[in-house]
Amino acid sequence: MDDSFPVLIWIFFIGIVVIYSIISQQNREKQKSAWRQLALAHNLIFVPNNSYFGNGAYVEGRYRGYSLKLETIEKKHGKSSVTYTRLKIFANRWPGERQSKTQSEPPLSFQEALNRFTAPNFGYGLDGEIKAEPGGQLIYYEQRDVIQDTQFLKYLLDLLTSLVEAYPIVVAGGAEVIPALPPALANKALGEFALQVLRDIAEETARRLAPRAHRLLCPRCLTRFGPHKAELSWWNSRTYYGCRTCGQSRKFLEGPVIAVLDNRLPAAPIQQDGTVRINWSARRELFDFDTVEIVQASDEDVERFAVQVGNDTDPSRRSRYKEMPCVVRPDCQLSENSLRILRQIFGQTMEGAEENRPGQEGQNAL
Ligand SMILES: [Zn+2]
Repeated sequence: MDDSFPVLIWIFFIGIVVIYSIISQQNREKQKSAWRQLALAHNLIFVPNNSYFGNGAYVEGRYRGYSLKLETIEKKHGKSSVTYTRLKIFANRWPGERQSKTQSEPPLSFQEALNRFTAPNFGYGLDGEIKAEPGGQLIYYEQRDVIQDTQFLKYLLDLLTSLVEAYPIVVAGGAEVIPALPPALANKALGEFALQVLRDIAEETARRLAPRAHRLLCPRCLTRFGPHKAELSWWNSRTYYGCRTCGQSRKFLEGPVIAVLDNRLPAAPIQQDGTVRINWSARRELFDFDTVEIVQASDEDVERFAVQVGNDTDPSRRSRYKEMPCVVRPDCQLSENSLRILRQIFGQTMEGAEENRPGQEGQNAL
């Protein structure tokens, strides 16, 4: 009786191990059966990988032209190891299949691409997380345990390939995309992925625009470019660059901006000789500028312009007027009063020689 007690314990433990092995084996067989079925249905390659200590069965191949791998991985959770299913989609599309795709489907528009990120309509509740490598070169989904539902796996294939397709289009949208990201950032399944989009946009705009932001002008708002902060939390933010008013980072004019008062010129900005000339007379409202040139204007026009500048509350502009050059062409024949007002507002008001437009060679300060 004394000896039988340890024997019973041994039998009990051996029994547990056997039952666990049987269940594990059954699960592996179920997984293999499901993944084999998925591979067969979508022309993918199923690798059973029967080695007990190997990484298990996996599926690879191409779906909608994108290379993929469906596998299981072990992740450390404290001291224990937990099995996850991981589906990886690589961004490089195979050229032949890209061609056949574009023939059958119209190219993805920017708005459609953005909607896939910002208004995700998941047909399934996603327990796992979608993540992306920098530049969207690799997008993957990880979920705890082995996914055996082939319908769900098919859904994941469609979802991830739709995101990998949209990724470069959304990132090319630049800083304008960032205000649309918070719902995705707050989404448990999509948050990490949206954060990578934000990082990519911030890095791309900083690299391309930061060194010359002070020379760039948004053609829509007529305001300069500058840094913006995307606040992710109270301790974490990202700096990106775009128009200081609307935030867009794709379209700009470049160079010092001359505010021209000339009632003969159109309202549209003119990029010329490395400068941007914008006719205040045709717009009658202020914008960001570095120099004033009064070519042909009445005393009333000048006074109205001067009142707007004098009352300008924009902090980034106000401090600059006192140092700003203002050239007045002699054939304006402005009154002494108008010239006095201009001298009060601008730092260096001077009368210039007869202009030689379109070049500026004839400009001489007196
Ligand atoms: Zn703008």
